Amino acid sequence: MKYCYECGTKLIEKPLDNEGMIPYCKHCGEYRFPIFSAAVSMVVQNPAKDKILLIQQYKKKNNVLVAGYINKGESAENAVVREVKEEIGLNVISHDFNKSEYFPKTNTLMFNFVCVVDSENLDNVNTKEVDKAQWFTLDQARECIMPDSLAKRFLMYYLHSRHPS
Ligand SMILES: [Zn+2]
Repeated sequence: MKYCYECGTKLIEKPLDNEGMIPYCKHCGEYRFPIFSAAVSMVVQNPAKDKILLIQQYKKKNNVLVAGYINKGESAENAVVREVKEEIGLNVISHDFNKSEYFPKTNTLMFNFVCVVDSENLDNVNTKEVDKAQWFTLDQARECIMPDSLAKRFLMYYLHSRHPS
């Protein structure tokens, strides 16, 4: 970021306690930290933890993880619970942080969680947002998730760390 996003003034570097040199706008008198979005994605597991939910969206035939943006003022954990309820219609009973990665295409920092839901029932899937939701065994999920995707990297990281084969 070279110019202030509020007033357009060229930014200078100014030291900030414990943070080092940070871009600063002399006109506004404010530090200008980089701006990006934050989102969560979820490896959703059934109560027995032997299946993983993958979904298809936006008329694409790729199997991906449930995901959504974090609202301003909301915690990542809350976004996990809210998005699973909104998209899949199920209640999250536990969640654990898995891994994060920056996704340049949408300027988004993705936080991946592994969560367990209270049921395998997919009758309440939000069909406006989700074309298809399906449970896969761990091996099937590994095979069927979209190749070369962020979703796949998150899933593989989880499977390697918790289910070494
Ligand atoms: Zn400014």
